[in-house]
Amino acid sequence: MPDQISFRELLQDPLFKEWTKKPPKLKPLWYKSMPWYVYVRREGRWARKEFDTYPKAFNWLVSRLKAGQVEDAAIHCKRQWFSPPLVKVGGKRTYWPMPPGHRWCGLCRRPTVYNTFTKHHAMPAYIAPYELRCTICGGRQTLAPREYPSVLRSRFR
Ligand SMILES: [Zn+2]
Repeated sequence: MPDQISFRELLQDPLFKEWTKKPPKLKPLWYKSMPWYVYVRREGRWARKEFDTYPKAFNWLVSRLKAGQVEDAAIHCKRQWFSPPLVKVGGKRTYWPMPPGHRWCGLCRRPTVYNTFTKHHAMPAYIAPYELRCTICGGRQTLAPREYPSVLRSRFR
């Protein structure tokens, strides 16, 4: 399995950065909810914090990134799947390209490395060790509706 590209590295990609800065639209709910988790890895351990709005989640994470306390991160949506950013190439739209060895997690809204786990920080209960799951949120790879082909090559190696 390749090393996962960190959130900080991902933000060096201008298109991904712009897309991440823009608060995504959520389908409305009739009840109040906390739709966002910010996942952060510090000293090798993942933790998460809940937020009711995207800007709050984003600003909280940015201040921690600036302080240099965060090894990796994601702004994860608990209830809605997002496709990768779209890019226009020669008048046609294509998906923002995945870094090698990575796959899109539409809940973490970033490319991640899917792996098998016997224990996962996001899931207290037993998990089947043969299932491929998102390193950050534990979402099953089979949950991903499809792959997102691109005519572009990733800037990441
Ligand atoms: Zn995920």
